[in-house]
Amino acid sequence: PQVSPSDLLAQLNPNQAQAADHHTGPALVIAGAGSGKTRTLVYRIAHLIQHYDVHPGEILAVTFTNKAAAEMRERASHLVQGANQLWMSTFHSAGVRILRAYGEYIGLKRGFVIYDDDDQLDILKDLIGNVPGLGPDTNPRVLRSILDKAKSNLWTPGDLLRHPEPFISGIRKDAASEVYTRYEARKRAQNAIDFGDLITETVRLFKEVPGVLERVQDRALFIHVDEYQDTNKAQYELTRLLASRDRNLLVVGDPDQSIYRFRGADIQNILDFQKDYPDAKVYRLEHNYRSSARVLNLANKLIENNTERLEKVLRPVKDSGEPVLFHRANDHRGEGDFVAEQITLHHHRGIKFSDMAILYRTNAQSRVIEESLRRVNIPAKIVGGVGFYDRREIRDILSYARLSINPADDVALRRIIGRPRRGIGDTALAKLIEWANINKVPILVACHNAEQILERGANKAVEFANLMDAFSEAVEAYSPGAFLRYLIETSGYLDMLKAENNNEGQARIENLEELVNAAEEWAQDHEGTIADFLDDAALLSSVDDMRTKTENKDAPEDAVTLMTLHNAKGLEFPVVFIVGTEEGLLPSKNALIEPGGVEEERRLFYVGITRAMDRLYLTAAQNRMQYGKTNSTEDSRFLEELGQGFESVDQYGQVVEYTQKTWRDYRPTATRHMNTPTPTAVKGTSPLTSELAYRGGEKVKHPKFGDGQVLAVAGVGDKQEVTVHFASAGVKKLIVKFANLQKV
Ligand code: ATP
Ligand code: MG
Repeated sequence: PQVSPSDLLAQLNPNQAQAADHHTGPALVIAGAGSGKTRTLVYRIAHLIQHYDVHPGEILAVTFTNKAAAEMRERASHLVQGANQLWMSTFHSAGVRILRAYGEYIGLKRGFVIYDDDDQLDILKDLIGNVPGLGPDTNPRVLRSILDKAKSNLWTPGDLLRHPEPFISGIRKDAASEVYTRYEARKRAQNAIDFGDLITETVRLFKEVPGVLERVQDRALFIHVDEYQDTNKAQYELTRLLASRDRNLLVVGDPDQSIYRFRGADIQNILDFQKDYPDAKVYRLEHNYRSSARVLNLANKLIENNTERLEKVLRPVKDSGEPVLFHRANDHRGEGDFVAEQITLHHHRGIKFSDMAILYRTNAQSRVIEESLRRVNIPAKIVGGVGFYDRREIRDILSYARLSINPADDVALRRIIGRPRRGIGDTALAKLIEWANINKVPILVACHNAEQILERGANKAVEFANLMDAFSEAVEAYSPGAFLRYLIETSGYLDMLKAENNNEGQARIENLEELVNAAEEWAQDHEGTIADFLDDAALLSSVDDMRTKTENKDAPEDAVTLMTLHNAKGLEFPVVFIVGTEEGLLPSKNALIEPGGVEEERRLFYVGITRAMDRLYLTAAQNRMQYGKTNSTEDSRFLEELGQGFESVDQYGQVVEYTQKTWRDYRPTATRHMNTPTPTAVKGTSPLTSELAYRGGEKVKHPKFGDGQVLAVAGVGDKQEVTVHFASAGVKKLIVKFANLQKV
């Protein structure tokens, strides 16, 4: 049911219609959230076809996600014929398509493979030993993030050498440059390219083989880019080259919604558009069609606090609507329960689950929310995150636990023997496995006997086996949460993640913190050991699997959406919850130490608020469990900036007076967010305030082993280890920090 040509522009307001009627030459649509930028872009495409007789096969539109591309095509198909011939894709899938067709011109062989993040790591791990200036303990993830950054900026190995600082993310720049060169050579020898190459190799192809560029340009006479504020240098260059001949480039964006700077996005690309194309027509849209006036005013108020910005007008079209509600729950569980309760209420009033979304800053926050929803049978789908127990770091630590309980678990061993790296290479491991097979024993036994199996590096395998023995002995000594934490810290896994020193590593650390929390909470209402916890966790993750499956096409569509604020960009929902509006979460603690970090977090919050059409909830937890310990929190500084823009409600939704816990009041202690919190003693453990915690000879009591006496003490502080003789259980070695011992 397509609309007639004359009707097309009539469905837009005058400013939108002007932009949609833009025929040739460069154009910039710059406007705030919900002002119809994406809608205008789609109508412009339809109008080009209907009114200006452009062939659909000559139109390209680049979007941020594949899902957005599919939606855009769908919308266009309702407006005009031939939408299936439109080229709509992300930058990356456009790159794949171009390189598949023409990659041979720059030496890519037919059938090249695309390496994912893990494959990249495998190459880098291999290279580390051979590059001068890299210690054996160099973290390959740090190298990978250097390469990613280089690629999003179109830097060559030579550019790394010319870097103004001697070190890049802690790696000597000559070493970084050399790794880059060898990594590229290795990849090429394996006939592979990585994600970054999808853009950079396309750029190179266009530059080196102008004939190819022309062929592609014939297929992209009219180019559109949505969310232009989040393009990086490489994507910018790709766009520039594509548009260089015909100059029919229309980009749309909102500088206030630039939220990927940490991944190399450069807000300057949109701000400089008029410099790059002095003849560009600029269209501004000033009416917001998405949100109620109350929601929009809140968003406007917030974003005014940013100093680095281009002022824009954004007026509501809708009525004031319902008040924005804020609820500060007692703790994170209360927060989840409040959200679940409100969702249930709205559902009873006839709002579909799929019209509601819960947005959070970090994936780790989803677990508690998921549990609250599950308790009251609210269907949920999680966007952009694997189920909690499927995450790699969670599986790794649970594999450590499995192997501790069952030293014959070879699958777990193979999973973790190289995480973190312990100097046991692939060949050594292969020999150990072979020996284990011949002798029909677990691989761990082979590790114990490594001296007779390996010529070199046997000590590394033996060390690993001894470490696992120590873990096995500790299984019964600690509560499930404490045991997991003991594994995380003692296995070297935490240090490995810390050394990554990037957002991804930080996210993984947060997920592990959540795992410890989960075990602590589990222990509150279950009797049992870590082994019992593992069983429950395994069941949970298979439930997760089922749920992921039901997310697919033929499953009930009606589910609440859970996702990060980043993933919510461009989307809209009638009812939106933004959870965790606390200092250290939003803004995140990392943002506080980075220049411009708070402004980027404010833009992220702005993106979140402007997803809401009719109802918006903001929530916080007065106490939040982090790393197995409950801390009291402070309200996000952004709440203060919202002024009187919201009403505070209690857990029943009754309006209560809002007494703000402002960050100013807490200023003196706010610095604690600036450091990664050092994990403190687990609940129930007396904090080790003094290095004199144990000297030997003390009488102690252990929750499981009963009464005992300290025979020997080694180490101090967090590392202090005691050897205790228990009347019932004999002699045990325990790390004081984890053991929950009491002096008697
Ligand atoms: P964002 O910055 O979040 O990407 P946007 O500027 O791309 O937002 P759209 O998603 O295109 O905004 O539009 C927001 C909502 O307003 C959509 O539901 C859209 O259909 C509606 N809308 C936009 N313009 C009009 C209009 N002229 N008449 C009716 N509805 C409109
Ligand atoms: Mg949009």
